[in-house]
Amino acid sequence: MRCGPLGAPVAGTLRAVVAALARVVDRVVDPLRVGDGPNVFRLSPPDTHTTTLEGDTGWARRPPASLCCPRCGSEIRQSNPRDPIDCPRCVAEFESGEFPRLDLLYMECPVCRNRLRHGRRHPNAIRVPEWATCDRCRYHWEYRHTY
Ligand SMILES: [Zn+2]
Ligand SMILES: [Zn+2]
Repeated sequence: MRCGPLGAPVAGTLRAVVAALARVVDRVVDPLRVGDGPNVFRLSPPDTHTTTLEGDTGWARRPPASLCCPRCGSEIRQSNPRDPIDCPRCVAEFESGEFPRLDLLYMECPVCRNRLRHGRRHPNAIRVPEWATCDRCRYHWEYRHTY
């Protein structure tokens, strides 16, 4: 009989405490759930940016090139592979098709403007660079698709 009257209120208090805790848990968990979505999205773009590799293929999409003027030794910049190669210091001027006859100094990264490393894979067959790569931003250009 002693436990009865005491037990009931205690049980009631416990139920109230549990109910209150449940409300608190609901309130705490819900904002976290809502917050998860935007946080995930906010973290994604930087990762995507650093893992995406920029690149181009084909002569028409070749990076800007600097050539050596065979007449005065100045640097001639050819931004577009179809542009004439026109020396800014002397009267020398070349058709875009004369590119292979001139000395290529370097090509410039179209993304970060760093100097690209370039090279040929078939030096006996092809007289222009076949690839160029940027050590800074990892941009890569290929003369043609590699199979
Ligand atoms: Zn010149
Ligand atoms: Zn770059």
